[in-house]
Amino acid sequence: MSAEFQSVRGMRSIEEVAERHLCAGCGVCAFLEPAAISMVDDLDRGRRPVVQRGSESGLGLQACPGLRLEQASAPAGADSSLRAGWGNVLAVWEGHSTDDEVRLKGSSGGAATALALWAIEATEMVGAVHIRAKPSQPVLNETTFSSDREAMVAATGSRYSPASPADGLQHLVDSKGPGIFIGKPCDVAGAVAASRLEPALAEKLGLTVAIFCAGAPSTNATVEYIEQIGGPLLSDLRRLRYRGNGWPGVFKATGRDGSTVERSYEESWGVVQAKRPWRCRICPDHTGELADISVGDPWYRKPGEGEPGSSLIVARTERGKQAVEAAIASGFLECRAVDPSLIPASQPGLLLVKASVFGRLVAMSLQGIPTPLFKGFSLFRLWMTKLNIRRKAGSILGTIPRLRRWGIHQPRRIKAGELQSSVPEDKPSTTTQ
Ligand SMILES: Cc1cc2nc3c(=O)[nH]c(=O)nc-3n(C[C@H](O)[C@H](O)[C@H](O)COP(=O)(O)OP(=O)(O)OC[C@H]3O[C@@H](n4cnc5c(N)ncnc54)[C@H](O)[C@@H]3O)c2cc1C
Repeated sequence: MSAEFQSVRGMRSIEEVAERHLCAGCGVCAFLEPAAISMVDDLDRGRRPVVQRGSESGLGLQACPGLRLEQASAPAGADSSLRAGWGNVLAVWEGHSTDDEVRLKGSSGGAATALALWAIEATEMVGAVHIRAKPSQPVLNETTFSSDREAMVAATGSRYSPASPADGLQHLVDSKGPGIFIGKPCDVAGAVAASRLEPALAEKLGLTVAIFCAGAPSTNATVEYIEQIGGPLLSDLRRLRYRGNGWPGVFKATGRDGSTVERSYEESWGVVQAKRPWRCRICPDHTGELADISVGDPWYRKPGEGEPGSSLIVARTERGKQAVEAAIASGFLECRAVDPSLIPASQPGLLLVKASVFGRLVAMSLQGIPTPLFKGFSLFRLWMTKLNIRRKAGSILGTIPRLRRWGIHQPRRIKAGELQSSVPEDKPSTTTQ
């Protein structure tokens, strides 16, 4: 382990990062150190690493985006006026998949899936590492490697619950050609950091796509919500969608007997988001600033009645820009170039959260709680310029009691939770609808 790294906030092991509430749950440490680290579902926190004590090599710690994140340098042509709030922005489009099923089932306009289909069907890329609902218990997620349309379509839609796609990067290393990686901003940051340590991964990481993310609520947030709305027992749960099948679509839990309970996206997200873990609340990157491409909802406008879906697509690197242009030219995406100001117009809440991070980190330091190292995200400037006096004060003074109330001031051991399977492991149900 490098001397420089050992000094990052005094953290010496992945176990400590997780116990001190700094793990983002991406799974990259488990990819880099498979013999020492495995990911489990801690139902109150998220996908978290369990470490065989004394066997860590330090590679996981070096790549850990929970502990350290650094903004990428700006490529030529990046919009300098957007960099502090939104990272590198080379071009922005609004659009959707040209495949009607993908557009409808996709979370927004199915853009992430359309980009993966373009990569698999029109380039030398062989598949995508991403996540899907776990067939044997759809309240959980699992990492998967999809190499055809059927598998990609089965994994469409945002899952507002923990997932650790970077634990599956070995699929790319082992594959015959390069592939695409899809995940939340922290997942992509982990994959990019790992590619700097593992040349075999760097060779195979053909494209990275990040979905915008306000934070991933715990598994228990969903478990309790299904119970609250009178949904199926977990032992009977056959399918679970958080949204999609329209834009934004509905939360829908389906039981083994076919009975369903549905709630609006607004209500369901409004409830489950309250259980986002602490690390998501001090995240400086909610829009995938380190990816080649990031995709989110064009919330600057209200979805039209019955509209099948639309995505905001942001190119962050030259490689990402060329990929979007090629996916449009070869008919996988239908898009129109839009003014980059539609990013702030679509996500005002995400900017406020990013601007609050500086104050929240100050509050943690005042309490003697270890903080992550964030470089190049202009957090102090955003705190100074984007928050009014009340919000500035709240980001520090309001955080202090929350840290105690939520137990962030003390370490907490990672606990693997147990949820009953809803179907026998050997007879997986389909995750498509
Ligand atoms: C926890 C969470 C919070 C979000 N917050 C915001 C927000 O604040 N603002 C906003 O505009 N958009 C947010 N999104 C993203 C948004 O919901 C859409 O996912 C995004 O626009 C992509 O839509 P799409 O139709 O292109 O994706 P699709 O074509 O439907 O593909 C979605 C892809 O995302 C992957 N995926 C789904 N859930 C997860 C997960 N939990 N972790 C990792 N990968 C996953 C799937 O494997 C799939 O490949 C959030 C998503 C998640 C999961």
